[in-house]
Amino acid sequence: MQQLPEILKSKKLKVTPQRISIYKILSESKEHLSAEHIYSLLQEIHPTISLATIYKTLGTCTKANLIQAINVGENSFRYDANCEPHPHFVCTKCKNIYDLPCVPSISTLKTELEDSMNSNILYEKIYVYGLCPHCKEEH
Ligand SMILES: [Zn+2]
Ligand SMILES: [Zn+2]
Repeated sequence: MQQLPEILKSKKLKVTPQRISIYKILSESKEHLSAEHIYSLLQEIHPTISLATIYKTLGTCTKANLIQAINVGENSFRYDANCEPHPHFVCTKCKNIYDLPCVPSISTLKTELEDSMNSNILYEKIYVYGLCPHCKEEH
């Protein structure tokens, strides 16, 4: 695993303490955090950072393919430091996002789709929607 400053440099991004902190928070979190959540977690380390800076940083890092933005609807996004395509479970009630622990082989599915459509699939975004264990209980 490359160190973040090197990764940032290889993406031609300036290495700033804010970028490093935001990326660190995201990569250490199993949750898919929102900008507001990152903002509240960053208050201790960077008390002067603004929510606008966080949005800007997240946007830059998303564009550089360093992190991925997950649209949870109504223009709200969650962020994931794992850029590899992987399927997500989105809870429609609490809007939390989970990585799916087990999935039918995506590569098999891709091959089948490519064969049946006689085309190349370049990337895929897989979302499933439902009620998470917690919200299911309350239901
Ligand atoms: Zn839920
Ligand atoms: Zn994820």
